[in-house]
Amino acid sequence: MTQPTGLAICYGSLLLENNKTGTAELISVSSQVASFSVRILACLQYLHLFLKLPKMKQRNGKKVQQELVGKMLPKKDQNGDLISKTLVDSGGKTSFSRKDPSMVHLSEKIKAISQESSWWDLYGLDWTVIIAWELLFFIGVWLLSFPSQALFLCGMLLIGLNYGMIKTKASHLAAHNALCRSKSWAKFWKYFFIEFQGGFSVDAACDIHIKVHHPYTNILGLGDSSTWRAPFLPCYVYMFFAPLVLPLVTPVVGLGYLVQEKRFVRLMECLCLTVPGFVAQMLVIMYSSGLSALRTLLLILASRSVMEIPYLHINIFQHIGLPMYDAKDKPPRIRLMATGALNLTRNWLLDWNFGHSLINCHTEHHLFPQLSDNMCLKVKPVVRDYLLKYGLPYNEKDYSERLRYFIANYTDLMVKLPPVTEFAGLQ
Ligand SMILES: [Zn+2]
Repeated sequence: MTQPTGLAICYGSLLLENNKTGTAELISVSSQVASFSVRILACLQYLHLFLKLPKMKQRNGKKVQQELVGKMLPKKDQNGDLISKTLVDSGGKTSFSRKDPSMVHLSEKIKAISQESSWWDLYGLDWTVIIAWELLFFIGVWLLSFPSQALFLCGMLLIGLNYGMIKTKASHLAAHNALCRSKSWAKFWKYFFIEFQGGFSVDAACDIHIKVHHPYTNILGLGDSSTWRAPFLPCYVYMFFAPLVLPLVTPVVGLGYLVQEKRFVRLMECLCLTVPGFVAQMLVIMYSSGLSALRTLLLILASRSVMEIPYLHINIFQHIGLPMYDAKDKPPRIRLMATGALNLTRNWLLDWNFGHSLINCHTEHHLFPQLSDNMCLKVKPVVRDYLLKYGLPYNEKDYSERLRYFIANYTDLMVKLPPVTEFAGLQ
């Protein structure tokens, strides 16, 4: 019992003895005195705090002031996640419990899984898949040498599937340095898969995908996937025919980016890798199949379009139509990725040709882009449970469902730009 409250009760007792007033009057007077004393106490506490602050600041510098201010404000971690300080345990030590999802908290769980994983889990399985698709290229080239149209088509298909893997799985993992621990080898694989085999610019891939799309996923005007829109094209032309010209457009976009950025030295370096890479592929096919240079060129372009339709589809299915945010008012990273990315359900061909990180583990990939495809699959249950536990969405849709949805809502999703004032930050 505090001293002013005790005085109030004594004062009330005296009133009761001397004046014999009613109980109601006594309670009224007592409560007024108690209320007054609580206010006095509060004022004294604030006065004590502000008198103490300058002395502590002199003694320990700015850190003390920050600690005192920190006690009054909600704590945030480096990702902008709120940390709730809730109770003091029986041993007298302060304990923290989280009421809000935290990127740091989830990262600790994923880091523990990665540290316990073998090289096979971290990189080995993905390398096996990449090497298998590389071998299928040579099997495809060998099939071209048979005087059979069916075998010729099978050969083209395998060469096309190999390019699908190079353009997505291998180049994507290499761009994220997710193929090995060594920094120098990671750099080598980046140039090998993206420029030598893929015919695209490493600078363009890293600037567009790593520096913009990933940190600004679904931020309007930055990583909002609007570069995939072609509003002048009708729905079916865009969805099923336009992707077929991507093998011609892709190298031009990569080189054009370097010209636009005036990186002319890098442009020459890029040409020194992309041209020999393409010529080497042409010579291998010409030598094996006996085709002319022109027919080989047409065959390569045709085979490269084999996986371009699903490639365009996955790029729009996994982000467009989900909540979008203003750069000035974006949510914490974990919420941004949970609401702004979508996993497609498992599909054998797409999983192993494009990679789990681009298909059924896209949310995991946006949260932890340094993980290989196999590791994304391994941590998927942990990520899913964590997001759902803290009330965040875990978006999963089937490829065919997304296809029907985009065809039915093509005008809204792919033609009309979303009105900023209506969508930004409101979801
Ligand atoms: Zn990525």
